[in-house]
Amino acid sequence: MWTSKGHVLVAGAGGFIGGHIVGELRRLGLNEIRAVDSKPIENWYQKCGDVECISADLKSPEACASVMEDIGVVFNLAADMGGMGFIETHKVDCMRSVLINTHLIDAAASVGVEKYYYSSSACVYNGDLQRNSVVDGLREDDAYPAMPEDGYGWEKLFSERMCNHYLEEYEMEVRVARYHNVYGPLGTWDGGREKAPAAICRKVAEAKLNGGSEIEIWGDGEQGRSFMYIDDCVEGTLRLVESDFAKPINIGSSRLVSINRLVDIIEAIAGVRLKRTYNLDAPLGVRGRTSDNSLILATLSWEPSTTLEEGLETTYAWIYDQIVTGTSDRGVPYHG
Ligand code: NAD
Repeated sequence: MWTSKGHVLVAGAGGFIGGHIVGELRRLGLNEIRAVDSKPIENWYQKCGDVECISADLKSPEACASVMEDIGVVFNLAADMGGMGFIETHKVDCMRSVLINTHLIDAAASVGVEKYYYSSSACVYNGDLQRNSVVDGLREDDAYPAMPEDGYGWEKLFSERMCNHYLEEYEMEVRVARYHNVYGPLGTWDGGREKAPAAICRKVAEAKLNGGSEIEIWGDGEQGRSFMYIDDCVEGTLRLVESDFAKPINIGSSRLVSINRLVDIIEAIAGVRLKRTYNLDAPLGVRGRTSDNSLILATLSWEPSTTLEEGLETTYAWIYDQIVTGTSDRGVPYHG
């Protein structure tokens, strides 16, 4: 179904979304999956089982070439990234991820890979359109004129264009999704790279477990965002890869909520109510951002459907469990 050559390469498979993509490919019955990540395999969120797992730094052209044998489809989910606290203070690291996509797509082209998927981000969108808490959904055309998130967003925009030029000049089938905030179990929830849903789940769970009564929120809590549950992210990604649509497309929720509302939902799940303190010096990113889903509805007849309440229930339970067991969950079998 996926490739006449049989093998699928998932780059970034030790991370959050890459791990879930591998899990879903296995569920679909794919046996020939090569999973690659720069982290040592024992630190991957989901582990090998019958999947070929390789620890390699894909910034190197040699490493990219070495994992390409028999590959028909490439999923590039590898990037040095994190939430606002990371990308605002690690612009060099974020921009170095350009080496991953550049060398990976080049290696893929040189062996005649049939399809190449690139995970871009809503951070490519023009910052001028994101200055208010309540904003219209971003349409794919809103990436230009270009004024993306400094560092991380520029890398994503450049790499999107790189993919497009491989389509034009090498006739490689490329697919590019712009993800809007993805959350769910088996992803980063502590350590500084976590995003808002995981960070707030952790803070609420810690307060509940330790009898705390306060929660620190970055900014005034009125920043607007949309959040997509991981199952929807995986489904949208696979639908896109199977489709004929080759331009960048939003994969994200169109439900705009404030961070304060996100905290309300997580508090309700946990059964606590905390006093909020607002850290106005924390990294904030844009004031408001959500996805316009007209294009994905028109092309794939689909959009994310898991409610924030449902998705956070599962995510909070998983993070709570991580804190109680005292371990960062690593190396659980790929779901599927
Ligand atoms: P993640 O950090 O959990 O996974 C990325 C993985 O890439 C990590 O396991 C990391 O070790 C690996 N990696 C980093 N540098 C590498 C290298 N040089 N060689 C090989 N592997 C390397 O992040 P994620 O949330 O799973 O994100 C996956 C992709 O989706 C990324 O491209 C990210 O920019 C994009 N994205 C994610 C979100 C989100 O909300 N999670 C939103 C927009 C876009």
